[in-house]
Amino acid sequence: MSEALRQAVIDTALAMNASGINQGTSGNVSVRLAVPDAFLITPTATPYSQLTPTAIVEMHGVTPQGGRPSSEWRFHYDIYQARPDVAAIVHTHSRQATALACLRQSIPAFHYMVACAGGRDIRCCDYHTFGTQALSDAVLRALHERRACLMANHGVVATGASLAAALALAIEVENLAAMYLAACAIGTPVLLGDDEMDCVLDKFRHYRA
Ligand SMILES: [Zn+2]
Repeated sequence: MSEALRQAVIDTALAMNASGINQGTSGNVSVRLAVPDAFLITPTATPYSQLTPTAIVEMHGVTPQGGRPSSEWRFHYDIYQARPDVAAIVHTHSRQATALACLRQSIPAFHYMVACAGGRDIRCCDYHTFGTQALSDAVLRALHERRACLMANHGVVATGASLAAALALAIEVENLAAMYLAACAIGTPVLLGDDEMDCVLDKFRHYRA
Protein backbone atom coordinates (compact mmCIF):
# COMPACT_ATOMS: atom_id res chain seq x y z
CA MET A 1 0.00 0.00 0.00
CA SER A 2 2.74 2.39 1.03
CA GLU A 3 4.67 1.62 -2.18
CA ALA A 4 1.66 2.58 -4.32
CA LEU A 5 1.12 5.74 -2.29
CA ARG A 6 4.80 6.65 -2.60
CA GLN A 7 4.49 6.29 -6.38
CA ALA A 8 1.32 8.39 -6.31
CA VAL A 9 3.26 11.21 -4.59
CA ILE A 10 5.92 11.01 -7.34
CA ASP A 11 3.27 10.96 -10.08
CA THR A 12 1.60 14.03 -8.55
CA ALA A 13 4.92 15.92 -8.32
CA LEU A 14 5.68 15.06 -11.97
CA ALA A 15 2.17 16.12 -13.02
CA MET A 16 2.57 19.36 -11.06
CA ASN A 17 5.61 20.31 -13.10
CA ALA A 18 4.25 18.93 -16.40
CA SER A 19 1.11 21.05 -15.98
CA GLY A 20 3.28 24.17 -15.92
CA ILE A 21 2.34 25.23 -12.39
CA ASN A 22 5.75 24.53 -10.91
CA GLN A 23 9.42 24.66 -11.88
CA GLY A 24 12.39 22.47 -10.99
CA THR A 25 12.68 21.30 -7.41
CA SER A 26 10.56 24.07 -5.89
CA GLY A 27 7.19 23.11 -4.48
CA ASN A 28 6.39 19.85 -2.70
CA VAL A 29 3.72 17.18 -2.36
CA SER A 30 2.48 15.17 0.62
CA VAL A 31 -0.21 12.64 1.47
CA ARG A 32 -1.60 11.53 4.82
CA LEU A 33 -1.00 7.93 5.94
CA ALA A 34 -3.55 5.81 7.79
CA VAL A 35 -1.18 5.67 10.79
CA PRO A 36 -1.88 8.56 13.23
CA ASP A 37 0.37 11.63 12.76
CA ALA A 38 2.10 10.07 9.74
CA PHE A 39 2.43 11.31 6.17
CA LEU A 40 4.60 10.93 3.08
CA ILE A 41 6.35 13.96 1.60
CA THR A 42 8.74 14.67 -1.26
CA PRO A 43 12.41 14.94 -0.19
CA THR A 44 14.41 18.14 -0.27
CA ALA A 45 16.44 19.22 -3.30
CA THR A 46 15.78 16.21 -5.53
CA PRO A 47 14.56 16.64 -9.11
CA TYR A 48 11.15 14.98 -9.36
CA SER A 49 12.27 13.05 -12.46
CA GLN A 50 14.90 11.29 -10.31
CA LEU A 51 12.54 10.26 -7.54
CA THR A 52 12.02 6.61 -6.69
CA PRO A 53 9.46 5.32 -4.17
CA THR A 54 12.19 4.77 -1.55
CA ALA A 55 13.25 8.43 -1.84
CA ILE A 56 9.85 9.63 -0.57
CA VAL A 57 10.21 10.52 3.10
CA GLU A 58 7.88 9.09 5.72
CA MET A 59 7.16 11.49 8.58
CA HIS A 60 5.99 10.27 11.98
CA GLY A 61 5.01 13.41 13.77
CA VAL A 62 7.98 15.73 13.26
CA THR A 63 10.45 12.85 12.86
CA PRO A 64 11.51 11.86 9.35
CA GLN A 65 12.24 8.26 8.41
CA GLY A 66 14.32 7.43 5.36
CA GLY A 67 15.83 10.69 4.19
CA ARG A 68 15.51 14.45 4.43
CA PRO A 69 12.01 15.83 3.90
CA SER A 70 11.22 19.00 2.01
CA SER A 71 12.43 22.00 4.00
CA GLU A 72 8.79 23.07 4.07
CA TRP A 73 7.48 19.94 5.85
CA ARG A 74 6.32 21.94 8.88
CA PHE A 75 3.20 23.44 7.35
CA HIS A 76 2.28 20.03 5.92
CA TYR A 77 2.55 18.56 9.43
CA ASP A 78 0.51 21.36 11.01
CA ILE A 79 -2.22 21.23 8.35
CA TYR A 80 -2.67 17.47 8.88
CA GLN A 81 -2.83 18.06 12.63
CA ALA A 82 -5.41 20.86 12.39
CA ARG A 83 -7.49 19.72 9.45
CA PRO A 84 -8.90 16.19 9.52
CA ASP A 85 -10.62 16.91 6.18
CA VAL A 86 -7.24 17.18 4.42
CA ALA A 87 -5.62 14.01 3.06
CA ALA A 88 -3.16 15.54 0.60
CA ILE A 89 -1.28 18.81 0.04
CA VAL A 90 0.27 20.31 -3.08
CA HIS A 91 2.52 23.35 -2.66
CA THR A 92 3.69 25.23 -5.75
CA HIS A 93 5.44 28.42 -6.78
CA SER A 94 3.10 28.78 -9.75
CA ARG A 95 3.83 31.94 -11.69
CA GLN A 96 0.60 33.94 -11.80
CA ALA A 97 -0.59 33.11 -8.30
CA THR A 98 2.84 33.88 -6.90
CA ALA A 99 2.93 37.18 -8.80
CA LEU A 100 -0.29 38.10 -7.06
CA ALA A 101 1.11 36.88 -3.72
CA CYS A 102 4.10 39.20 -4.24
CA LEU A 103 1.58 42.06 -4.23
CA ARG A 104 0.24 40.46 -1.02
CA GLN A 105 -3.23 40.39 -2.50
CA SER A 106 -5.92 37.80 -1.98
CA ILE A 107 -8.05 36.62 -4.91
CA PRO A 108 -11.46 38.24 -4.39
CA ALA A 109 -14.81 37.01 -5.73
CA PHE A 110 -14.13 38.23 -9.29
CA HIS A 111 -15.22 34.81 -10.69
CA TYR A 112 -17.60 32.26 -9.23
CA MET A 113 -14.92 29.52 -9.37
CA VAL A 114 -13.11 31.26 -6.50
CA ALA A 115 -15.60 29.25 -4.42
CA CYS A 116 -13.75 26.05 -5.37
CA ALA A 117 -11.31 26.90 -2.58
CA GLY A 118 -14.16 26.77 -0.08
CA GLY A 119 -15.11 30.42 0.50
CA ARG A 120 -15.78 33.87 -0.90
CA ASP A 121 -12.09 34.57 -1.53
CA ILE A 122 -8.69 32.90 -1.61
CA ARG A 123 -6.63 34.56 1.09
CA CYS A 124 -2.97 35.54 0.94
CA CYS A 125 -1.15 34.81 4.19
CA ASP A 126 1.52 37.01 5.73
CA TYR A 127 5.15 36.60 4.73
CA HIS A 128 7.53 34.57 6.90
CA THR A 129 10.75 32.73 6.06
CA PHE A 130 10.21 29.35 4.42
CA GLY A 131 10.22 26.35 6.73
CA THR A 132 9.42 28.34 9.87
CA GLN A 133 6.71 27.79 12.45
CA ALA A 134 5.64 31.41 11.89
CA LEU A 135 4.95 30.68 8.21
CA SER A 136 3.08 27.51 9.10
CA ASP A 137 0.91 29.41 11.59
CA ALA A 138 0.16 32.08 8.95
CA VAL A 139 -0.77 29.41 6.37
CA LEU A 140 -3.16 27.76 8.83
CA ARG A 141 -4.86 31.09 9.52
CA ALA A 142 -5.29 31.77 5.80
CA LEU A 143 -6.68 28.25 5.32
CA HIS A 144 -9.42 28.78 7.91
CA GLU A 145 -12.58 27.48 6.20
CA ARG A 146 -10.61 27.28 2.94
CA ARG A 147 -8.90 24.53 0.95
CA ALA A 148 -6.23 26.78 -0.60
CA CYS A 149 -4.34 30.00 0.05
CA LEU A 150 -1.61 32.18 -1.41
CA MET A 151 1.63 32.73 0.51
CA ALA A 152 3.06 36.27 0.38
CA ASN A 153 6.25 36.50 -1.72
CA HIS A 154 6.29 32.71 -1.97
CA GLY A 155 3.58 30.60 -3.63
CA VAL A 156 0.41 28.57 -3.16
CA VAL A 157 -0.87 25.84 -0.84
CA ALA A 158 -3.70 23.64 -2.11
CA THR A 159 -5.26 20.84 -0.08
CA GLY A 160 -7.69 18.07 -0.88
CA ALA A 161 -9.27 14.81 0.11
CA SER A 162 -6.88 13.12 -2.35
CA LEU A 163 -3.67 13.88 -4.24
CA ALA A 164 -5.70 14.34 -7.44
CA ALA A 165 -8.04 16.82 -5.73
CA ALA A 166 -5.18 18.85 -4.25
CA LEU A 167 -3.40 19.00 -7.63
CA ALA A 168 -6.60 19.98 -9.44
CA LEU A 169 -7.17 22.80 -6.95
CA ALA A 170 -3.58 24.05 -7.31
CA ILE A 171 -4.11 24.21 -11.08
CA GLU A 172 -7.45 25.99 -10.64
CA VAL A 173 -5.94 28.57 -8.27
CA GLU A 174 -3.24 29.32 -10.84
CA ASN A 175 -5.89 29.66 -13.56
CA LEU A 176 -7.95 32.03 -11.40
CA ALA A 177 -4.89 34.13 -10.56
CA ALA A 178 -4.05 34.42 -14.27
CA MET A 179 -7.59 35.51 -15.11
CA TYR A 180 -7.66 38.00 -12.24
CA LEU A 181 -4.33 39.55 -13.23
CA ALA A 182 -5.46 39.77 -16.87
CA ALA A 183 -8.70 41.48 -15.86
CA CYS A 184 -6.86 43.89 -13.54
CA ALA A 185 -4.48 44.79 -16.37
CA ILE A 186 -7.30 46.36 -18.40
CA GLY A 187 -9.68 47.56 -15.73
CA THR A 188 -11.26 46.93 -12.37
CA PRO A 189 -13.02 43.54 -12.21
CA VAL A 190 -16.63 43.60 -11.04
CA LEU A 191 -16.82 41.47 -7.91
CA LEU A 192 -19.65 39.08 -7.13
CA GLY A 193 -21.62 39.87 -3.97
CA ASP A 194 -21.61 37.76 -0.81
CA ASP A 195 -25.12 36.46 -1.53
CA GLU A 196 -24.11 35.19 -4.96
CA MET A 197 -20.92 33.58 -3.65
CA ASP A 198 -22.89 31.90 -0.87
CA CYS A 199 -25.30 30.59 -3.52
CA VAL A 200 -22.36 29.17 -5.51
CA LEU A 201 -20.80 27.67 -2.38
CA ASP A 202 -24.12 25.98 -1.62
CA LYS A 203 -24.34 24.58 -5.15
CA PHE A 204 -20.75 23.28 -4.92
CA ARG A 205 -21.58 21.51 -1.66
CA HIS A 206 -24.51 19.73 -3.29
CA TYR A 207 -22.51 19.05 -6.45
CA ARG A 208 -19.79 17.32 -4.43
CA ALA A 209 -22.23 15.47 -2.19
ZN1 LIG B 1 7.77 26.95 -1.28
